[in-house]
Amino acid sequence: MKFPEPDLADPIYLKRHGDMPWPKDKFFYLLAANGLFICRNQPFFSSCVPARKGPAEFVNQHAFLTSRYPKIPQPLMEQAVGFFAEVGEKHGAEAALLLAWDTYQERYHLLVPKQRCSVYRLYQGTYPLGVHYELPTRLSDGWSIVGDIHSHVNGAAYASYTDKRDERYQPGLHIVVGRIHQEPPEFHVDAIVDGMRFMIDQTLVFQGYLHRARTSQKCLDQVEIVQVSSFQGYWHNSNRGGGYLEIAGKGDVYTCDDSSDCERNSQSQSRRGVDE
Ligand SMILES: [Zn+2]
Repeated sequence: MKFPEPDLADPIYLKRHGDMPWPKDKFFYLLAANGLFICRNQPFFSSCVPARKGPAEFVNQHAFLTSRYPKIPQPLMEQAVGFFAEVGEKHGAEAALLLAWDTYQERYHLLVPKQRCSVYRLYQGTYPLGVHYELPTRLSDGWSIVGDIHSHVNGAAYASYTDKRDERYQPGLHIVVGRIHQEPPEFHVDAIVDGMRFMIDQTLVFQGYLHRARTSQKCLDQVEIVQVSSFQGYWHNSNRGGGYLEIAGKGDVYTCDDSSDCERNSQSQSRRGVDE
């Protein structure tokens, strides 16, 4: 099908059927499912080559993401940091939380997935290796996972190689909390759409943050610490299924929902590498 744009110097054909007749134009563009092609019909050959740029009449388009995420309430971020701080101080381990959006109530829920947090045991102490958890597949009606938050313990907040690899096909917000020994800690916010990562100014996503909140034992019970004495042992650790708890914070009292609310999960996600 010839694209109906009469003022283009070179025609553009849209390849919509496998048996499309080969056009007779001396030079033309072909837009197919796998991209734009430059095509020629010359006396000694016909050719079709992936185009490195579009027709001269076109202008460039850059990739962008304009965030319209509702701001994460300050108490939720303070609860998240409190949870990460507790796991970091007690065990020197990374930890992870999930952000669920409730379309009915138009609010976020902070979920604590069952997770295995691995640390490398050294003479001088422990070194965080990563966190394994499973994404819930059956959430409450109207809820969907729109992002995750994980800690880098005392390391910097940034998207590590491991984070980039693991999150590449996980659309949504990806928040890292680092320098947890500081108050406030460091935050890094990215959003991923269609495999592309965009850094987002945290003020666009956070309502605010003042100081970390206390976390409950029930939330900490979602964390299993695995100490490994070699990286090889770490790579052979397997994920273990589990549910999640919601951090239901009100004011300064932070509790987790009853564990009967936990859902069984099947889809696994892991950060296996060393973040730093
Ligand atoms: Zn990370």
